[in-house]
Amino acid sequence: MAETGPPYSGILKYCTRCCLPETLEGVAFDEMGICTACRAQEEKMRIDWASREKTLRQLFEKYRDKTGQNYDCMVPISGGKDSTFQLHVLTRVYGLKPLAVTFNHNWYTETGLYNLYNALEKFDVDHIMFTPNRRLVNQLARKSLGAIGDACWHCHMGVGAFPLQVAVKFGVRLLVWGDSVSEGDGRGDYRAQVTQYDRDYFVKYSARFEPPAMADDQISLRDMSLFQLPSREEIERSGVVGIHLSNFIFWDEERQMEFVKKTYGWREDHVEGTYKGYKSVECVMAGVHDYAKFIKRGFGRGTDHASADVRAGLLTREEGFALAREEDSKRPAALDYYLKITGMTEREFIETLKAKREGKALDLPSDYPAREAPRPAQTELEVKPAIVKFLEGKAKEETGGRPSA
Ligand SMILES: [Zn+2]
Repeated sequence: MAETGPPYSGILKYCTRCCLPETLEGVAFDEMGICTACRAQEEKMRIDWASREKTLRQLFEKYRDKTGQNYDCMVPISGGKDSTFQLHVLTRVYGLKPLAVTFNHNWYTETGLYNLYNALEKFDVDHIMFTPNRRLVNQLARKSLGAIGDACWHCHMGVGAFPLQVAVKFGVRLLVWGDSVSEGDGRGDYRAQVTQYDRDYFVKYSARFEPPAMADDQISLRDMSLFQLPSREEIERSGVVGIHLSNFIFWDEERQMEFVKKTYGWREDHVEGTYKGYKSVECVMAGVHDYAKFIKRGFGRGTDHASADVRAGLLTREEGFALAREEDSKRPAALDYYLKITGMTEREFIETLKAKREGKALDLPSDYPAREAPRPAQTELEVKPAIVKFLEGKAKEETGGRPSA
């Protein structure tokens, strides 16, 4: 018979309503054993969204460009479903002229690139993108694992810092993000000051360290200059503020995703480590990110998504746990790519992450994953960034299919 209930029952405490365990960073349980994410969801139902929308309208009016010379706002986009939805809201609903800005982690999937360029074409917006070089991305991916326990420091820091740099340089004062940590993350709620700008948001919630902490004899500060946040003084002087749309309009991911698919041709795809195809579909490394979390904290993206669905009433808690068990522990195919670009062995990968366990996660079975998971024979499914595949394909055409010298 299949196992039921929480994957680590007896070891970890789980929310009594959804499937989130106590190893989720920043989560707290109330006297009923209900987690902060579930509580935030309840709060969300009682918020006066009409009045928040009014505040949003006023903000847009305040920041709308009056000189006729500049953009009204800036929208940081990845090409994910939120990007298309943000552009819809800004241009079609509020009639603003945004400048779109992308930090390119350089791990784009083909579907991700399609979604990004599709959005730019559909909404006719100007766009600036920063692509860090391959060598730097590979070096930071290796360093990141030991530093923060996932492979993605450069992305966490880049999405936070680069749009701010552009905003300061181009004098665009309003940055409009999509969802915030209030949305099912367990680390925030809706009571926080929604219009207060937090320069350190991304350092606090994902990157952990600013560039100086990542520099070493191979990675210089100059290599990471576009990963630097502007100083507090620069931000103050330029008057840049940032808001999250999800704090002003009722955020419903499932419905928004259906909407952007139907209306604008946004596409989903299979994402490793979950049964949902619409989150992080733009990144080849999503599976590695979540597998790392699973080793470190005993749960992965399957648990996150199942919990969101339990909260939304789409799954029972028991069904959620069943899905989480199935998804979280799967070895992602992208791990081979990660090991290749970092020169790490799988053993090193696992041990580095186990060493990052803290608090209750230290009680997780020390022998798991005990050894390398069985690898499916799937060279045709080899995971690598779309641009690398594209260039390799072109090189092959050139040599008529023969390997180049
Ligand atoms: Zn919960």
